[in-house]
Amino acid sequence: MSDERMQGVCRWLADQQAAMVACLETLVNIDSNSHDKAGNDAVADAIVGWLAADGIEVRRTSRPDSGDILEARLEGDGSDAAGGHVLMMGHRDTVFPTGTVGKRGYSQQGDTAFGPGVADMKGGLVLNLFVLRALKRFEPLPFPVRVLFTADEEIGSRDGTAFIREAATGARAVLNAEPGRVSGNVVTGRKGGAAFLIEVEGRAAHAGVSHADGASAIEALARKIVKLHALTDYEVGVTTNVGVIEGGVSRNTIAPSASAQLDTRFVTNVQREALLSAIEAIVAEEEVPGTRATLTQVSGFLPMEPAMSEALFARYQAQANALGFEIGGEFTGGCSDAGTTASLGIPTLCGTGPVGAKMHTEAEYCRLDTFVPRAQAVALTILDLADAH
Ligand SMILES: [Zn+2]
Repeated sequence: MSDERMQGVCRWLADQQAAMVACLETLVNIDSNSHDKAGNDAVADAIVGWLAADGIEVRRTSRPDSGDILEARLEGDGSDAAGGHVLMMGHRDTVFPTGTVGKRGYSQQGDTAFGPGVADMKGGLVLNLFVLRALKRFEPLPFPVRVLFTADEEIGSRDGTAFIREAATGARAVLNAEPGRVSGNVVTGRKGGAAFLIEVEGRAAHAGVSHADGASAIEALARKIVKLHALTDYEVGVTTNVGVIEGGVSRNTIAPSASAQLDTRFVTNVQREALLSAIEAIVAEEEVPGTRATLTQVSGFLPMEPAMSEALFARYQAQANALGFEIGGEFTGGCSDAGTTASLGIPTLCGTGPVGAKMHTEAEYCRLDTFVPRAQAVALTILDLADAH
């Protein structure tokens, strides 16, 4: 930590603990399930209000079916615009149904906060907000800093991905404030995932009277499932799982239809390509004469390949160490929007939010004592990127 600005930013953040907790409580106490546009827009209103009070420009793009997209910006002084901006990102939506706040809103026990989305990732939104507010208080950086707030990550970022790609294009670094791990570590690699619906059509026939006239969609699907599961390769981190099957009309009818829901995970984009073409081939094969199958991708996240976080993580780690805390990087099988930016070839670090755990459950918690140091680490990483040019 050398220059005055770094020290000033850290000092300002150190005084914000109570203010951060107050913002967290406000955001957690607004239901914002991914399908709840009004709730996600209400979270947006709160964020816009806080940023406007600091004179920070926010661009709001209204969306018909999802929560509006927010992008806050601090312009740079232009001296190093060519190297690209820094993007911080986070999602406002949670997995919890509307009405959850009424039953169990924000609560706190000592340094631990509870409530729907408290870690995943309203804590991260608050952290990003305060980093931006801290930077705003000092002279402009050589490049712009942008903060994106999307609203549908928990359902695969169908609406948000285009905005993430746009906001990340040309960036020198992306910091995604998903919750820090229980260990305190940030996330330096994530699997990608893709979900599919497989629908098989066969031909119905009476199982006793005219068995030979039928074409069993269930048999065709069963043969495909065995082949799909055989694509799992733990050594390289590729998994496939058919988690739901449906089909048939009655025991004594050759099944005219059947369907399956397939989940896949992979570590690299090369694996993803290979896996997708293997799945397409398996689905296309006419396993039972007279049947045909279709494949529909329902959702997907690209992988965050560890190579994309290496240099940025080293920079972040050095700043955390300078602040006096040890931090490591962790690989996780869970997917996030970080895969989208990493797959664009942009250095990306994930899990920069406050430490949290038990995400997507009633026991979800966020450690309030990690807000200030982790906000400082993110801010210093951005300032260090400014020094590096
Ligand atoms: Zn999340």
